[in-house]
Amino acid sequence: MTKVLSGKEVADKINQQTQQVVEELKLIHHIPALAIVRVGEDPSSIAYETAAIKAMNQVGIEVESIVFPEDAPSEHILSAIDDLNENADTHGILVMQPLPESLSRNEVALRISPDKDIDGLTPSNLGKLVENDQTGLWPSTPKAVMELLAYYEIELAGADVCVIGSSPVVGKPLSILLLNAEATVANCHIKTKDLTQYTRQADIVVSATGAPHLVSPEHVREGAVVIDVGYGQVDGKTCGDVQYDAVAEKAAAITPVPGGIGTITTAVLAEQVVKAAWKLTKAS
Ligand code: NAD
Repeated sequence: MTKVLSGKEVADKINQQTQQVVEELKLIHHIPALAIVRVGEDPSSIAYETAAIKAMNQVGIEVESIVFPEDAPSEHILSAIDDLNENADTHGILVMQPLPESLSRNEVALRISPDKDIDGLTPSNLGKLVENDQTGLWPSTPKAVMELLAYYEIELAGADVCVIGSSPVVGKPLSILLLNAEATVANCHIKTKDLTQYTRQADIVVSATGAPHLVSPEHVREGAVVIDVGYGQVDGKTCGDVQYDAVAEKAAAITPVPGGIGTITTAVLAEQVVKAAWKLTKAS
């Protein structure tokens, strides 16, 4: 029987721990606070922001949203980030994607204080990720995948893992986190010549492409663990990268979409706000 790897159980456990630290911070008169910066009215960005606000409220973290119009000059957005970096009452900064064409992700990543970079964008935190330095803040979705694997006690040391997708926010940092956990990682992407060759060998397949239903039973070997990070819509219905029903028949364990990794990601964001708040409070 295939095991369904529910994200909710994992998120609940993370939230419990986060809430405890929030209480400890409040005892010393510090209220952890997140600032969300959004440019424009992209519906998926608004949906993610709403989910993040809900997750923060659930554990007692304060949230402030700063919204710019689509045509706001880049300097205004960067200057707002500077102000948040300086503000002692803000512990985490989350800049929503997509950004306007005039402002690159890299410009934003170079501007956010690494101490408040709760989505692990900055070169400093990415360097710590490569070094496996636990003082860093990790990109939230890759960390959510690692939390799920740990919660369900899926052995990583020596496991063959195929990550499909190599974006700087999900696939690439996840591949490094898996390497840090001593897995053997194949990181595939749109130019990979024969995807099946890699996925069929894997004990664990993680798909993070945004290509709906890309992963079919032919991609997966019997008894593999399948993690679906993808989040898309087909005919108005939410779906992931994996052909869920057909792949579930072959897999030993599989994450649903929705209800899988996405559910954990916002809990990880809250966890990282509190980690940042704790560190900033101790430093002050
Ligand atoms: P992206 O577009 O930046 O990168 C997609 C990656 O997938 C690229 O490396 C590309 O080469 C690869 N790819 C695309 N089509 C492919 C194909 N047919 N075969 C092999 N490789 C292919 O996307 P992203 O920001 O990394 O997000 C990926 C997916 O994860 C999206 O569906 C996104 O919505 C979802 N996502 C989910 C969460 C969450 O918390 N659940 C968070 C972030 C992103």
